[in-house]
Amino acid sequence: MNILTFDIEEWFHLLDHPGTRTEADWVNFPVRIHENMERIMEMLAQNKQSATFFCLGWVARKYPEIIRQISDLGHEIATHSDLHQLAYQQNRNQFSEDLSRSIQSLESLTGKKVRAYRAPGFSLKEENKWVFEELLKNGIEIDCSIFPAKRAHGGFENFGQQEPCWVEMNGVRLKEFPINVSSIGNFPLIFSGGGYFRLFPSWVLDQLWKDQRYIMTYFHPRDFDAGQPMIEDLSFIRKFKSYYGLSSAMCKLEFLIKKYPFVDLARAEREIDWENARVVRL
Ligand SMILES: [Zn+2]
Repeated sequence: MNILTFDIEEWFHLLDHPGTRTEADWVNFPVRIHENMERIMEMLAQNKQSATFFCLGWVARKYPEIIRQISDLGHEIATHSDLHQLAYQQNRNQFSEDLSRSIQSLESLTGKKVRAYRAPGFSLKEENKWVFEELLKNGIEIDCSIFPAKRAHGGFENFGQQEPCWVEMNGVRLKEFPINVSSIGNFPLIFSGGGYFRLFPSWVLDQLWKDQRYIMTYFHPRDFDAGQPMIEDLSFIRKFKSYYGLSSAMCKLEFLIKKYPFVDLARAEREIDWENARVVRL
């Protein structure tokens, strides 16, 4: 099962730079989301491929035409929060208010219920696992935020087997689609999005892909935008993660889409035998 998802945010929605954190910072950067979305939508249309889009509520209010287009073309709209803040830096009220605002902004444009969530930067960890209760309270039934490895912005190192499962928290349950992690020796390798996807050539991705029973992808409009400006004062590792391999990324994704069957999250959810799925108690 290969699940195709995109996180819809601007190229400057980076989490680990002090100059890109708030709405007040974002007005300083040029707008690139329209041309970046066109590139994605065109490739999907050419390959008759549907996908799930985790969108910011901020994008829905600022560029409603983008959300309407995604929905009108038959793709699934989910939420990636409202203002792209790290979930573990919010308290329960702040988290819930941000989430509810994003859901209202998205649903008011499409008229369709938002059922799935992905945290900015996969920023869920042991300390803020109350997030799952807040998701359920806000009508979210599926989470795609669990990163089963150590990570700068969160992660559940001991999550175990990476496949769709139930997450149980204080007696309530939510469907979970974690990110898949491979490894080279003890080194965890996440190749279904981000820097490693852009670093590896197609043949390496092909080798990784064909060995996996379950792959959850996560792409961003900026992952395919070779013309985006370089943000000043980024660390070397962040520069690498954000800027390497931008010009070839779309070709590689298209290669994989032509070779392997991909589904959106809604279809993946229907194909899973939830009665017999693993239950992970957090
Ligand atoms: Zn994001």
